[in-house]
Amino acid sequence: MTLSMRLKLPEHLAELAEVTRGFMPYDEGETLAYFAHKAFLDTKTNNQLGTAVEIGTYCGLSTLYLGYAAQLADALLATVDHHYGSIENSKGWPHHDSQLIDPQTNQLDTLYRFRRTLALSGLSQNIVTIVGNSVTASKILTAPVDIVFIDGGHSHEVAWNDYYAWANRVRHGGILMIHDVFPDPNDGGRPPYEIYQEALTNSFTEVHTQGSLKILRRDSR
Ligand code: SAH
Ligand code: MG
Repeated sequence: MTLSMRLKLPEHLAELAEVTRGFMPYDEGETLAYFAHKAFLDTKTNNQLGTAVEIGTYCGLSTLYLGYAAQLADALLATVDHHYGSIENSKGWPHHDSQLIDPQTNQLDTLYRFRRTLALSGLSQNIVTIVGNSVTASKILTAPVDIVFIDGGHSHEVAWNDYYAWANRVRHGGILMIHDVFPDPNDGGRPPYEIYQEALTNSFTEVHTQGSLKILRRDSR
């Protein structure tokens, strides 16, 4: 028997996900939700508060899946983004969306879109929005968490900085999820794949794959 490793969103959230800009196919989103929920529940069973950090909020698409898992388990999700977009989102790149440019600053701004997603989701009790650079945020968010989801900038420097800043925040037995991991270079950029490989040599074990989403567990002590 194959167990489904996916947690479906309820209808109102699934509809919201459909109209939310972003880069999270629903099958991968449901996998995010499933593993997050499971890790939150382990912690809840021990009468503790489940916690997670997401790097790369954008307009809140993946946040809906993680936030729903948090709501179900009375847990908390911190979602981190400076909301200026990555290199991949700038003008002339395939992931550029000109509708997200603020005409006053001429800069990408996804924060107001995210706030809209959050307001419509009904998940705001379970989500803390952190607006800032991900490495800077790691200096103040220093507690271990059940789940870290890395989906920020995909340049070499940003991806590796996120790995070094965040992977070791995962509690022992907790979950590290990395998005846009492509073993074949023809399918996408290298850095997420490289940090995934590094995690495997550093006390993380692969648990599951859904599309380009890798689920790793940090070894228990
Ligand atoms: N998880 C989202 C997609 C994230 S896109 C979804 O499901 O749709 C990557 C995001 O990472 C962008 O919004 C960009 O602003 C953010 N980002 C890139 N580098 C960053 C950094 N150094 N600090 C904080 N956020 C960063
Ligand atoms: Mg991604």
